[in-house]
Amino acid sequence: MPLVSMNEFLPKAKANKFAVGQFNMNNLEFAQAITEAAIAEKSPFIFGVSEGAIKYMGLEYTVAIAKAAADKSGLPIALHLDHGSTFEVAMQCIRAGFSSVMFDGSHHSFEDNIRLTKEVVRAAHAMGVSVEGELGTIGGVEDDISVDAEHANLAKPEEAIRFYEETGVDALAIAVGTAHGMYSGEPNIHFDIIEEVASKIPVPVVLHGGSGVPDDAIRKSIQAGVGKINVNTENQVACTNAIREVLAKDAKVYDPRKYLTPARNAMVEVVREKIRLFGSNNQA
Ligand SMILES: [Zn+2]
Repeated sequence: MPLVSMNEFLPKAKANKFAVGQFNMNNLEFAQAITEAAIAEKSPFIFGVSEGAIKYMGLEYTVAIAKAAADKSGLPIALHLDHGSTFEVAMQCIRAGFSSVMFDGSHHSFEDNIRLTKEVVRAAHAMGVSVEGELGTIGGVEDDISVDAEHANLAKPEEAIRFYEETGVDALAIAVGTAHGMYSGEPNIHFDIIEEVASKIPVPVVLHGGSGVPDDAIRKSIQAGVGKINVNTENQVACTNAIREVLAKDAKVYDPRKYLTPARNAMVEVVREKIRLFGSNNQA
């Protein structure tokens, strides 16, 4: 199956109250683990790729790996630019084969964010590519982007609704109290904001910073209207912990397959659990 836009599964997710996971791809082992888990759970999913990950893997390798996963699995898979910073980056990704892009204009003024997002939507939709927008700033650290809690502003529902109406995005990330990276304490998720926005726009709300959010809060946010949840940090932690364990046990290991295999297996378990928690199993 070719890579698909998020519109292949997000409308169904919103209507049937489940969420599709965006699992970030950082290398080949991440891609293999995510795909293996989704095949086992018969789930659609989204490969999220940040600009930093594209720099690390190379644009051509990234697209080739995602296409191979879609061909091999037969699952509906979207290849999605995560936190795209400019129109140019979004277009480069689409030309290379991405089926979905996020344009993150949240650091611009509200009016500029609308104007810039609209430009991306117009070009992307002409090519059958879905677009995610962002409103309000999500705290934490992702790649080179760092937003401290003080500057992480919650989205205002009336602005979110106007943002949707003017831009026509296919999914809308709004700052509701989650943060990128791992939490030290428990996040205070504003379910009322999710509910108010989701009830007034036809597309799902996106939850960024899903790593470390308690399962109950995830379920509650999906009931409130979240249809896409981003997971990256938990896979990074599982991967690195597995590698650390192998290396700590045996200082003589030199074959990367000896530590990357357990790392990959650990990520398969994380992704399978998330898919079941999000309710997207058996939805492919
Ligand atoms: Zn994010």
